[in-house]
Amino acid sequence: MRRPLVAGNWKMHGSCTSVERLLGDLIAGVAEQQVDVAVFPTYVHIAQAIGLCTGASIAVGAQDCSCKASGAFTGEVAAQMLCDLGCQWVILGHSERRQYHSESDELIASKLAAVVEQGLRPIVCVGETLEQRESGQAEAVVASQIDGALREQADLSGLVIAYEPVWAIGTGLTASPEQAQDMHASIRGCLETADGVESNATRILYGGSVKGSNAADLFEQPDIDGALVGGAALDAGAFLEIINAAAQ
Ligand code: PEP
Repeated sequence: MRRPLVAGNWKMHGSCTSVERLLGDLIAGVAEQQVDVAVFPTYVHIAQAIGLCTGASIAVGAQDCSCKASGAFTGEVAAQMLCDLGCQWVILGHSERRQYHSESDELIASKLAAVVEQGLRPIVCVGETLEQRESGQAEAVVASQIDGALREQADLSGLVIAYEPVWAIGTGLTASPEQAQDMHASIRGCLETADGVESNATRILYGGSVKGSNAADLFEQPDIDGALVGGAALDAGAFLEIINAAAQ
């Protein structure tokens, strides 16, 4: 039985005031223990978020990290620094990183190695564009992203995959539960052949315009183990609705 995980990617949003308000509302509303909950503020709000979440059942993670341990890499943040702050999770390979920062599978693999070495828990994002889906390449694209990121990793026992079709992120379009389930089953198949991964124990999240109104139908699918949420994670009520749907 895989424990659901609901993760909120706050992207480049927030201020010290809004972080305090949002986390205050979430902490007051997250009573359930059947679901893992994690939030991913910007780097500058991570320490504040960790302080606010002390004693609450909400973990804090980063939206990215460097593949390097330290050195002259202006603007970068190392996995060890995140660990030092008390971060537990790191999102890697988000489609916005792939699109706007030209992140390759090779770079994502090296970031994954850095994260795993520090004992942080990675959420590796994969997903196809609309053009790739319409030309029938969706499963092949996602399989190759998984293969590229997971190849030659030391220990992937805590790995989480997030399937996020690019065409569904921030667009209001959601994959149907059936489309998402088909891809999640295909991803689980890929994980079976990956070294160091226990396919059946690995959580696969769905991401792409998840909200309270569509979450329950997605979570009913056998291979959907939670959600990576963008827009709706910035609203405590909307995010709590998704967490409650995962707890059912
Ligand atoms: C995301 O950014 O990972 C995401 C899924 O965004 P949204 O929920 O807004 O589509």
